[in-house]
Amino acid sequence: MNEPLPELQPLPDAERRHLAVVGAGLVGLCTALWLQRMGHRVTIIDPAPPLGDASYRQACSYGNACTFAPHGVVPVATSGVIWRVPGMLLNPLGPLAIVWRYLPHLVPWLRAFLASSTKAEVERIAGTLAALLSHADAAWQPLVMQAGAEGLKRHDGCLYLYKSEAQFRTADAENALRERHGVAMDRLERADIQNMEPHLAPLYHKGVLFRDAYVFSSPKQLAFALAQAVINGGGEIVRGEVSGIEPRDNGICLRIADTEFLADHAVVAAGAHSRKLTASIGDRVLLDTERGYHVLFPQAGHLLSRPVCYPEHGFYMVPMADGLRAAGTVELGGLAAPLNPRRTAMIRDGVKMLLPAAGQGSDEWLGFRPSMPDSLPVIGSSRRLPRVTYAFGHGHLGLTLSALTGYLVSQLVAGQTPAIDLAPLRPDRF
Ligand SMILES: Cc1cc2nc3c(=O)[nH]c(=O)nc-3n(C[C@H](O)[C@H](O)[C@H](O)COP(=O)(O)OP(=O)(O)OC[C@H]3O[C@@H](n4cnc5c(N)ncnc54)[C@H](O)[C@@H]3O)c2cc1C
Repeated sequence: MNEPLPELQPLPDAERRHLAVVGAGLVGLCTALWLQRMGHRVTIIDPAPPLGDASYRQACSYGNACTFAPHGVVPVATSGVIWRVPGMLLNPLGPLAIVWRYLPHLVPWLRAFLASSTKAEVERIAGTLAALLSHADAAWQPLVMQAGAEGLKRHDGCLYLYKSEAQFRTADAENALRERHGVAMDRLERADIQNMEPHLAPLYHKGVLFRDAYVFSSPKQLAFALAQAVINGGGEIVRGEVSGIEPRDNGICLRIADTEFLADHAVVAAGAHSRKLTASIGDRVLLDTERGYHVLFPQAGHLLSRPVCYPEHGFYMVPMADGLRAAGTVELGGLAAPLNPRRTAMIRDGVKMLLPAAGQGSDEWLGFRPSMPDSLPVIGSSRRLPRVTYAFGHGHLGLTLSALTGYLVSQLVAGQTPAIDLAPLRPDRF
């Protein structure tokens, strides 16, 4: 699964440009670093970048499940998902739920989501994700070294657990899909799980270990280290919210409040907020958000050795620098609605049942996965403004795929043939 990537060569002086990167999430930060490696001058623009004493909580990159997940080849819409739609509407606290009020806005996205769930589409999407995931670690390694963030990595794999033989067999279709696409996994018996994670309540029947998965023990510290590396590399990080993007002679103008920022080329990496920027250019991109939550259990970090997920519950429990983070679930409900405390209560109850010694949860967080209906990111040029490159829509895999995205964007900006076929990731594919 761990394939190398061709080394990128710095460009000759005449081909170096000034790039503006909109958004300082992991995707924007990694993109900035890869662009710098090609010799470009880079400015990142973000209203709340990971610098100084910023909380960084607005970024999805802050609150995720910390997991580099090469097993993530299975899209969210798998065959049969259509039969789950009534349940998604009726149970607002299910692992995958639709917020009624948001339904009218969601119709085109939902239609494309369901169209992506045919057997043939799932196989095609899994193939594309596998091609990306197989190069994802190679793209991270040089950036982690450059940022001095090796100490954040913990290599112990990731466990998926099932409570009954019926659940294990149902999951076998997805696990077989993973195996067909090269994911390294071990099937585990109850005793294996008990030895590996003795603090779990013995509710498990069988499980699977994804061997190549690893954790960044603090995505926040990772982002701060990457931002510092951008600055150390001669880049700038400017505080501001970009409200629109327009063409200029030989360049691009970004509107920030009542000022204009000029650059040769722009990359839009504003996560789930990217859609209003693509709209300002006139490109229609079917981006929405899968809202996700976390609850932190500060006293429980030592109770697990690796991320543990019961797919039935829809969240991961992850040992991290700050304690144990229970993170996940999907709510299709847009960017405006506030955190639903009933959902975080459900995560707390789940942790209490699965890991009884976890104690009290403290920090609660809602974040916005930037999601396309087919679970594939967008990496490609604007149809209207070829000097604007889009890099968003990473859904459940943004931490995993951000470094590779930066690598591929820097190839696109240099006019080189990307190491991976980007046709399935075109912005206008819907
Ligand atoms: C609960 C949960 C668990 C997850 N677990 C994992 C996991 O274990 N592994 C994994 O790989 N992925 C995981 N993900 C997904 C991952 O976190 C996201 O895909 C990823 O963080 C997206 O990164 P991003 O840089 O695109 O967006 P973000 O991190 O959201 O960054 C976007 C940035 O753009 C800025 N911005 C927004 N609008 C503008 C504007 N107009 N102008 C300038 N700047 C702007 C914002 O301030 C923000 O800093 C999880 C997500 C959630 C919610």
